Amino acid sequence: MDALHEKGLLFGASVTVTTQNVDEAVSPAFIDALAGRGCKLVIYVEYVPVTEESQELAPGEEERIRLRDGIARLRAQVPEVVFVSFPGDEKSSGGCIAAGRGFFHINSHGGAEPCPFSPYSDVNVRDTSLRQALASPLFAALREGDVLADDHVGGCVLFEKRAAVEALL
Ligand code: SF4
Repeated sequence: MDALHEKGLLFGASVTVTTQNVDEAVSPAFIDALAGRGCKLVIYVEYVPVTEESQELAPGEEERIRLRDGIARLRAQVPEVVFVSFPGDEKSSGGCIAAGRGFFHINSHGGAEPCPFSPYSDVNVRDTSLRQALASPLFAALREGDVLADDHVGGCVLFEKRAAVEALL
């Protein structure tokens, strides 16, 4: 961060929020440390468990409320930094925006995935254009079906519905 700041580059930080770090993640001390190094964007990403054993780290309703309130406080107190909550801010976007509905994710091997939290791919951007990747059978099926549209009260639709995604794949 110091090197980026020295070069005058714009940069941000991605913070994974768990049941164990939620209060520290939105604490003034932590944000002051980031902002003091020139960080202009903080993206809060709720931890999504990838094993049964790590389920306890996933924020529940109580932690989501603390995260939401903490971000609201930070937005008022630290206007020079942009705060984004993910997937919390999806509610204001009408739900899950994966699979090209709002964005998609490219993994380190070039595989185009619906979202980092839904690491399935049927197309690689080394072989296709981004436009072709957006039209992949998996993405198209997700957008046209009712998987993305499903109501959710937090957490991750595609993680909860991973069996349905695997079936489509
Ligand atoms: S797949 Fe999950 S984390 Fe990704 S956009 Fe959809 S709901 Fe959010």
